[in-house]
Amino acid sequence: MPIKELPPVGRFAPTPSGRLHLGNLFCAMIAYLSVRHRGGQFLLRIEDLDRPRCPMHLSEMAIRDLEKMGFTWDGPILFQSQRDNHYEAALQCLRSQGLIYPCFCTRAELHASIAPNLGDTMLVYPGTCARLTPEEVRRKSETRAPALRLRVPDETISFRDRLQGTVSENLLRDCGDFVLRRSDGLWGYQLAVVVDDAQSGVTEVVRGMDLLSATPRQIYLQRCLSLAPVHYMHIPLLLDPRGRRLAKRDRDLSLDVLLEKFRAEELWGFLACAAGFLSAPEPLSLDDLLEVYDEGKLPRDHAVLPEALVR
Ligand code: GLU
Repeated sequence: MPIKELPPVGRFAPTPSGRLHLGNLFCAMIAYLSVRHRGGQFLLRIEDLDRPRCPMHLSEMAIRDLEKMGFTWDGPILFQSQRDNHYEAALQCLRSQGLIYPCFCTRAELHASIAPNLGDTMLVYPGTCARLTPEEVRRKSETRAPALRLRVPDETISFRDRLQGTVSENLLRDCGDFVLRRSDGLWGYQLAVVVDDAQSGVTEVVRGMDLLSATPRQIYLQRCLSLAPVHYMHIPLLLDPRGRRLAKRDRDLSLDVLLEKFRAEELWGFLACAAGFLSAPEPLSLDDLLEVYDEGKLPRDHAVLPEALVR
C-alpha cells in the first residue's frame, strides 16, 4: 500500500529588529502558499533572540502587520526569547559529545587574522581556541567570558534545495567552527533555528537566499542532535523596480508606510507579479493567491517588483 504523505508544516520566522518590509512579506507569502495549497500548517515564530535589538513592541507590530495582510497561523506564536531552556538542553547534548569548546577571541582579533576585504559574512574561524589546554582555558576565563563554538569536521554537506538545486559546502573550509552562544550569553541563530524547527514539527523551510549558506551548518547540527531533516527552499531576494536590493533602512518599502498608500490586496498583486504568478499587478487577497500559486513560475535568481509600486 502506498504511504500517504502527511500534510507539510511550514513557518515564517521574522527577526523583529525593525518594521517588516516587502522582502519579509514576499518570503512569508511563499512560505504560506507553499504549505496551505497542500493543506498543510503554517506556524509563526518571532526570532527575538537579540532582546535589546528586538524589543517587544516591534514583535507586536510585526504580528499586527501580518494580521492586516490576512495571514492566519496554526497554534501559538513561538518567541525565541522565551526558549532558553530548550537551547540550553541542546547545548548540553552537544557538550556531552565533546563537540563544544570555549573561544576567547575578540572580534578585532578575528578580523586581524583574515584578509581585510572579506566582511563578517565571509569570516571562517581559523581555529585559534580549538586546541587550548585546560590550564589556558582557566587562565583566559579569569579575564573574559568565552563564546561557545561547535567543532565541525572536514566534511562536505550536500542538500537538494527545491528551487536552487543541489548545494554543497565543506564545513571546515567554507564555514569553520561556528558560534552557538556568544560571549554576552546570546544564543546563536543556527542553534535556535534548528531546535525550534524540530520541536515545532516543521517539515519545510522557505526563506531568503541570504540564508542558503547557513543551511549546511544547520543540517550538521540536526545530525549531531539526532533531529529529523527538513526540506529547504531558498527564494530569491526581492529587488525594487530599479533592480536594487531592499534593505530595512528603505523606509519607503516598509510595510507600515506602504499600507498608508496601498490596500493589502494591491500589495499582494505587486508581490504576485514579482513571484511570476501574475503578468500584471491586480488586487487580490492572500487566499486568492492560492488559486494562482505555481511554484514552477518562481524566479531563481532575483524577483523584481513592478513599476506600479513607485508610480
Ligand atoms: N529570522 C531570520 C530572518 O528574519 C529568518 C530565519 C529563517 O527563516 O530560518 O532573516
